[in-house]
Amino acid sequence: MQPIRLALVGIGKIARDQHLPAIAADAGFTLVAGVSRNARLEGVAHFADLAGLLASGLPVDAVSLCTPPQGRHLVAAQALAAGWHVMLEKPPGVTLAEVQGLQPGNRTLYASWHSRAAAGVAPARVWLAGRRIVSARIMWREDIRRWHPGQDWILASGGMGVFDPGINALSILTEILPAPVEVVAARLAVPANRASPIAAWLTLAFGAVDITAEFDFLHTGQQQWDIVIETTDGHLALRNGGAELAINGIAQPLVDGGEYPALYRRFAALIAAGQSDCDLAPLALVTEALARGETITVSPFDF
Ligand code: NAP
Repeated sequence: MQPIRLALVGIGKIARDQHLPAIAADAGFTLVAGVSRNARLEGVAHFADLAGLLASGLPVDAVSLCTPPQGRHLVAAQALAAGWHVMLEKPPGVTLAEVQGLQPGNRTLYASWHSRAAAGVAPARVWLAGRRIVSARIMWREDIRRWHPGQDWILASGGMGVFDPGINALSILTEILPAPVEVVAARLAVPANRASPIAAWLTLAFGAVDITAEFDFLHTGQQQWDIVIETTDGHLALRNGGAELAINGIAQPLVDGGEYPALYRRFAALIAAGQSDCDLAPLALVTEALARGETITVSPFDF
C-alpha cells in the first residue's frame, strides 16, 4: 500500500518534539509538506497557510494539525472540504460545538488524545474494570515557564490555561473509568492580565464517588502528573502522565512504544477502515468547568 501523503500544520514545540520523529519512523506516512507562518522543514514543500497548500495542487491525503486550539476547527473544516483526512492535536477545539460542527463525510476525522496512549493507561483500565472505586485524586502540577515558555496563546481566551495540560489528565480519567464523569464544582484562578486560568480545582462525580482534581501551572520543583485511585480491592497510581503504573505500591512492568507513534498508527488504521474517532468527553469536562467555575482573580502573570 502507498504511504499516506501527509502535511503537518503548525510547526511549533509539539510538532518538532513528537510529530516529526513519529512520522519519520512510520512507513505508513510520508511527509510531503509543512504549513507554517514561520518555520520551514528541510526537504519538504513549504506553505504559509492551508490556502497556499490547496492552491499548489500538491497531492495530499491527510493533514495533522498542531496549531493552538483557537481557530483549529476552521483549518480542519478547510482540510476536510479539500477531501483530506484530518488528525487534531489535543484539545480538538475550544468548544464542543465547533468540533461537533466538523463534517468528515467519507474522510477520517481523528481527535487524538496522546496521554491515552501512555504505557500505563490501558493496563490501568483493565485493572479497574469490575473493581469498586471509592475515591480518586488528580494532581497535575507543572511549571508553565519551563514547559510552555512564551506560549501566550495558552493563557489567552480559548487557550484553556492550566487545562491545556490538565485535559490530558481528564483524557486518561475518562479512558480508564468504566462510566462517565461529571463536573460538580470548579474554582479557577485567572491572572489579572490574562483570560484563562493558571490554576484550577475541580470536584468531579463518578456516580456517588467524588473525584478531586488540582491543576497548577505555577508549580516549580518536582513536577507531578499523577492520578491515584482507591478501590475496595486495592490502590492504583498512574504517575508521570500515565507512563508509570503502580498497583498497591508495586510498579508494574509496562510496554512503552511511545505515545505519538501509537497515535499515527491509529490514524492510519482509521483511514484504512474508513472511520472517524472524535471522543469529546475530556473537552466536555473542561468546557463545563470553564463555564460553571467560580473565578478568582490572582496576580498578573508574565513569562
Ligand atoms: P507552540 O509551540 O506554540 O506551536 C504552535 C504552532 O502553531 C506555532 O509554532 C505556530 O506555528 C502555529 N500557530 C498558528 N497560529 C498560531 C497562533 N495564533 N498563535 C501561536 N501559534 C500559532 O505550541 P505547542 O506546544 O506545539 O502546542 C500546539 C498544540 O499541541 C496545542 O493544542 C497543545 O495543547 C498540543 N500539545 C502540546 C504539547 C507540549 O508539550 N507543548 C504536548 C502535547 C500536545 P507557525 O508560526 O509555524 O505557523
